[in-house]
Amino acid sequence: MSDCLFCKIIAGEIPSAKVYEDEAVYAFRDIAPMAPVHVLVVPKVHIASADGVNAENSACVARIFEAIPKIAAAEGLTNGYRVITNCGEDACQTVKHLHFHILGGKPLPETMA
Ligand code: AMP
Ligand code: ZN
Repeated sequence: MSDCLFCKIIAGEIPSAKVYEDEAVYAFRDIAPMAPVHVLVVPKVHIASADGVNAENSACVARIFEAIPKIAAAEGLTNGYRVITNCGEDACQTVKHLHFHILGGKPLPETMA
């Protein structure tokens, strides 16, 4: 998608602090971190949100979840971490390209809603 921020980051048109990349997945540091480690993991194909995952494109979600433990290990998250995806208005999704937040490096609050 030509006007998608994360597609532009994946394409290298907008700079990012990359922490991981493979054929299907790109991961980079969140620009406004909410924890000592705050990484965004995105599919290289444009999917608007978790609500856009289907039988044709779900393989990239598996690839993301294969990458997440590698990223967590590289970031030193030996005591656990949280993985979140915000989907749609009620969840306050601000960037309409599927992404998973990895948050860690401190004890996180119990509540999420
Ligand atoms: P969400 O609210 O779940 O859609 O999350 C979008 C995330 O993207 C937020 O945590 C933002 O801080 C982050 N973000 C926005 N622009 C950039 C950028 N240029 N580089 C890195 N992270 C960004
Ligand atoms: Zn996109």
